[in-house]
Amino acid sequence: MKLPATGTPRKQLSAQMRDLAGQDADWRGGRTWSLVYFAGDDVAEVLREAYATFIYGNGLGPAAFRSLKRFESEVIAMTADLLGLPEATGNMTSGGTESILMAVKTARDWARAERPNVTAPEMVLPITAHPAFDKAGHYLSVKPVHIPVGEDLRADIDAARAALTENTILIVGSAPCYPFGTIDPIPALAALAQERGIACHVDACVGGYLLPFMERLGYAVRPWDFRVPGVTSISADLHKYGFAARGASTVMYRDPEYRRHQFFAQTDWPGGLYGSPTMAGSRPGGAIAAAWAVLNYLGEEGYTRLARTIMETAKALRDGINAGSGLRVMGEPDMSVFAFTSDTLDIYAVADAMDARGWNMDRQQKPPSLHLMVTPVHAEIVETFLEDLSAAAGSVTAGAAPAGRAAMYGMLGTIPDRSVVRKVILDFVDRLTREEETARETASE
Ligand SMILES: *Cc1c(COP(=O)(O)O)cnc(C)c1O
Repeated sequence: MKLPATGTPRKQLSAQMRDLAGQDADWRGGRTWSLVYFAGDDVAEVLREAYATFIYGNGLGPAAFRSLKRFESEVIAMTADLLGLPEATGNMTSGGTESILMAVKTARDWARAERPNVTAPEMVLPITAHPAFDKAGHYLSVKPVHIPVGEDLRADIDAARAALTENTILIVGSAPCYPFGTIDPIPALAALAQERGIACHVDACVGGYLLPFMERLGYAVRPWDFRVPGVTSISADLHKYGFAARGASTVMYRDPEYRRHQFFAQTDWPGGLYGSPTMAGSRPGGAIAAAWAVLNYLGEEGYTRLARTIMETAKALRDGINAGSGLRVMGEPDMSVFAFTSDTLDIYAVADAMDARGWNMDRQQKPPSLHLMVTPVHAEIVETFLEDLSAAAGSVTAGAAPAGRAAMYGMLGTIPDRSVVRKVILDFVDRLTREEETARETASE
């Protein structure tokens, strides 16, 4: 494919875009369980206006874009307050992954400055922590040391203690973790970090803008935020339960001096003095403005109302799953994210049967399970989902040999040589942006 020699008429482009969007998963109808956090047409309209108004805005130039500077400072201040420490400092980033990269970089560079005897930095993290930490370790040469979770699917604190070495610079916990929705024992992890004089990061990418409102609703939320002594940084995604437009997250710090290790400066560039707080250079004004707009549009009342719907929906789904069909929710999830599995059925075969009924199930491994991330749109589909799930489970014969996608997932989960699986993943990633392949896949569907 080549760049078209002449421009394409607007009408034709619009039709093409509408057509392609129509082929995407039905996230609006609640048929997907991750990727999109939709809070209603009114919120969508607020985001659209803010994004469009600031579409040319660039967060790299705070002097030229005083609007964006103000939006970002206010988003950070409101977030600090929600996380239990109004004086906390922080920055907006493009997403959870960038927030986590920044938190690991800050811990690494703080250690370089304060603990020069550390030559090969390590971070201790539960196996349930998001792969963004492993990615950060890969990019920043900080070795991830994984620890197991206990029966309760929360970080095993004895294992955390045993994993600490002279080279450990950072301990990580999640609030909650993505796979099981459980909050790690943050006070114990943070105390361990404090004892050693090292950093403790809480990944609240998924919980940061929901747990505070659950607390306001009277839920007994396990301690996880800056009110826990020893927590040095927190990541929280605006584009998840903050309901902002995609491309917005925050990374927050207890200590402003510690945060300075996140920053970058080049003093001798002919293009001028250059300083930047995060990974990105140019930063999309739309994402910053939309995050500010939605926080103000919903306010505490709006977020609390949405949290109530989400939590009631999650409970109805969990109760329904546990009520029959040989399926069970894993552990005791603390929020609206959870996994379920079966002791008798091939859960991947159940997923295939659900997909055939128009759902988009997220498969997990070690052990095999399916994952639900509940958002307000799911309030409308609880009954349909549970009926379909019951029918899907009923259609799977216990002990039958797995077929199709289920067979592939089952196999990839159990291959002992993970380098083989790694190659399968990298081949997949490689194909993602190859035009011919995409065209062929579309053609064969
Ligand atoms: C989504 C998520 C991340 C990563 O966020 P991205 O915005 O996808 O980069 C990190 N941690 C947890 C717990 C998450 O759920």
